[in-house]
Amino acid sequence: MMRSPETFAVAQGIAPSLMPRVRPVPSRPPTRRRRRTQHPKKSMKLATRNSSPRERSAGLMDARTAYPDAPLLSGGTDLGLSFSKGREHFPVTIFTQNVTELRAIEDTTEALTIGAAATYTEALPHIEEAYPSFATLIHRIGSRQIRNVGTLGGNIGNASPIGDTPPCLIALDAKLRLQGPGGAREIPLEDYFLDYRKTDLAADEVIAEIDIPKLTNDQVFRTYKVSKRYDQDISAVIGAFRLTIEDGVVAQARIAFGGMAATPKRAAKCEAAVLLGKALE
Ligand SMILES: Cc1cc2nc3c(=O)[nH]c(=O)nc-3n(C[C@H](O)[C@H](O)[C@H](O)COP(=O)(O)OP(=O)(O)OC[C@H]3O[C@@H](n4cnc5c(N)ncnc54)[C@H](O)[C@@H]3O)c2cc1C
Repeated sequence: MMRSPETFAVAQGIAPSLMPRVRPVPSRPPTRRRRRTQHPKKSMKLATRNSSPRERSAGLMDARTAYPDAPLLSGGTDLGLSFSKGREHFPVTIFTQNVTELRAIEDTTEALTIGAAATYTEALPHIEEAYPSFATLIHRIGSRQIRNVGTLGGNIGNASPIGDTPPCLIALDAKLRLQGPGGAREIPLEDYFLDYRKTDLAADEVIAEIDIPKLTNDQVFRTYKVSKRYDQDISAVIGAFRLTIEDGVVAQARIAFGGMAATPKRAAKCEAAVLLGKALE
């Protein structure tokens, strides 16, 4: 039988006033204090369901400028972990997948340009045709559900040293278009990663698109992922190789690795030492 402190004290012959103060145990755990949601600034015109593509694009830039600390949210397959595992709370998140410009995919003979918020599933048919080995790797990223929402922009934006796509994109000489309030700038992906999870992206910029040159007839591209399981596993190492073969020997090589340093990185010394001028057997 549960007794109140007073009853207990009387039963033990102690004056209730001499008893240590004990807070009664509440019968139910206290309800969590609700966190305040930050509402958009009144002056900001938000993009709505009926907004035009141009308005949505402008809305994204306005939001990015007004809330430089708010994380961008694409498919949420990485950012979701900050909520569920990291227990982080962001009063504002900026959702990119309704911005038409960021979902566009342009496929020409020179290049494949993929909007940062286009999903793997949307980009896969184009990648499959242009870089089959890269497509095989993407088929191993998460599950179908993850690929249905996950994006290249998120994989790059997450800046993990073991993200699967950056080494491939670096070897393929991809460039990023970074959109800021004052306009866009282009940067080779190999210059984007500065240090562990540190990138060249300014607080008011977003990755808008990834531009991947098509392979020429004398180029081959292969990528290899080493992981404990074949499917649905993070990589231990990723190697990506784009070789230009002239007269049977390697005339140019771009080699990049993930999982070998604090950032996905080009292996320039390896290119020169191991492959240049050598015949491929
Ligand atoms: C079950 C599971 C399996 C997975 N398997 C793999 C795997 O095999 N290989 C692999 O590489 N990854 C894997 N991932 C991680 C994840 O799916 C990928 O990194 C995916 O590409 C992230 O894309 P997203 O759109 O979901 O990014 P989000 O979670 O929306 O965003 C990720 C980060 O990028 C930033 N970001 C998003 N969009 C932009 C933008 N336009 N500009 C700048 N920054 C931006 C966000 O702010 C955030 O910091 C897995 C995840 C899960 C949950």
